[in-house]
Amino acid sequence: MFDVLVIGGGNAALCAALMAREAGASVLILESAPKKWRGGNSIHTRNIRSMHDGPEDVMSGAYPEEEYWEDVLKVTGGITDEKLARLTIRASSNCRSWMQKHGVRFQAPLSGTLNLSKTNAFFMGGGKALMNAYYRSAEKLGIEIRYDSTVSSLEISDGRFLAAHVGNQRIEAKSCVLAAGGFESNREWLKEAWGINEFGEAPADNFLIRGTRYNNGVLLKQLIDMGADSVSDATQAHMVAIDARAPLYDGGICTRVDCVSFGIVVNKLAQRFSDEGEDFWPKRYAFWGRLVAQQPGQIGYSIIDSKVLGRFMPPVFPGDKADTLEELADMLGLDKPALLKTVSEYNAACRVGTFDHTIMDDCHTEGLQPAKTHWALPIDTGPFYGYILRPGVTFTYLGLKTSERAEVHFHGKPSDNLFVAGEMMAGNVLGKGYAAGIGMAIGTAFGRIAGTQAAECALRQRDTQHAAA
Ligand SMILES: Cc1cc2nc3c(=O)[nH]c(=O)nc-3n(C[C@H](O)[C@H](O)[C@H](O)COP(=O)(O)OP(=O)(O)OC[C@H]3O[C@@H](n4cnc5c(N)ncnc54)[C@H](O)[C@@H]3O)c2cc1C
Repeated sequence: MFDVLVIGGGNAALCAALMAREAGASVLILESAPKKWRGGNSIHTRNIRSMHDGPEDVMSGAYPEEEYWEDVLKVTGGITDEKLARLTIRASSNCRSWMQKHGVRFQAPLSGTLNLSKTNAFFMGGGKALMNAYYRSAEKLGIEIRYDSTVSSLEISDGRFLAAHVGNQRIEAKSCVLAAGGFESNREWLKEAWGINEFGEAPADNFLIRGTRYNNGVLLKQLIDMGADSVSDATQAHMVAIDARAPLYDGGICTRVDCVSFGIVVNKLAQRFSDEGEDFWPKRYAFWGRLVAQQPGQIGYSIIDSKVLGRFMPPVFPGDKADTLEELADMLGLDKPALLKTVSEYNAACRVGTFDHTIMDDCHTEGLQPAKTHWALPIDTGPFYGYILRPGVTFTYLGLKTSERAEVHFHGKPSDNLFVAGEMMAGNVLGKGYAAGIGMAIGTAFGRIAGTQAAECALRQRDTQHAAA
């Protein structure tokens, strides 16, 4: 029997497995994906939000605990567990040397990376390289890894983990870490959660999944049904407005459309529906997926003119390009008179001061609903560009309630051998909203805690068995 069973094959799972192995436990990882798709959503990541009190290796300036905490408080609107959030924040300050020990390399951010050099440490080669480094290290340390191994159910008795089932196999272990992601790839569950909207549509039918197809939430559902305590709700998720041409799964970051704050966004009736200039894009990009999801047909159209080219990271697929707005309307399939009316009302309302996309500038609209509060320049210089947007789900927040020791709780009581990390518990810190790079901070902090706790628990049982023998 293995000491520690780790279910999942992403960042949280590998952090847990490596810590448990370092503590002297034998470890088995069960990863649902085949080897070539291993690593879950973690392969798509680029950075980790990191606390630091002064300039450090790849980090500029200082990003102290209080500032980080204020950011978490702001994006979550207070729906967060302060103790667990602060634990994540502090852990983010000292995990980089451990990550480096396992082969992860960091780099300074490149320009166009959402201005994150003060707050986020970037992985050299992105999340794919990070996961490859962890897997290499795991193999070297003698951790057993089984791919194509979807755990379909768990045996739990009185809050204690007994075994996991993969096909016909029953796999026992002394302790278990759950790190199997959220339920973002389970379209049926998303559909059930989002229901039918005021237009009679099932919005989730039009959602794209930015990451892995393997996070189906099977174990999350089973555990909640068995009485495990949960946090957040099924409609809360990180959702980005992405290029509508993105594939259903694994489009990753290159499907993001970053020009929203430089133009206007209209719905399929060619009407604007939100303030495109409310805040810097890094603070707003994760809200626009939800905004588009609330529109009829769950579709949006980002429209810019040639004046703003070069001020944002261009999307990987070129947008529609036209010399006139009439032509652009045709290309996008929008009603021509409706789009021309929206643009001319917006242009007339623009009060242009000194345009500066690096600050919250004074270019704004007056007397327009909804207002555009910054970076409002008239859309008047061809060629014009349009990008069609769909909601892209990054990951869901419904998760298992936990504590500083990463235990799963049943009716308020912590399990003594079942632990949880990563997206499966991120909702404890993120009741809603998002701050770039915090997903990896939560997964790394709790993966490492869960691995340590699981190893301690398993080694205690080993000692007891030896003493009894
Ligand atoms: C496009 C994109 C970009 C992102 N960029 C960033 C970023 O730059 N910084 C950041 O902090 N966060 C980012 N995130 C969020 C980040 O990916 C997650 O917060 C983080 O990867 C979660 O790690 P995890 O280990 O919990 O989940 P995952 O990495 O998704 O791993 C879950 C694993 O569980 C496996 N699994 C699922 N079900 C089962 C089962 N029943 N049995 C066995 N295995 C199972 C899956 O195959 C997968 O390997 C991004 C996400 C996406 C999609």
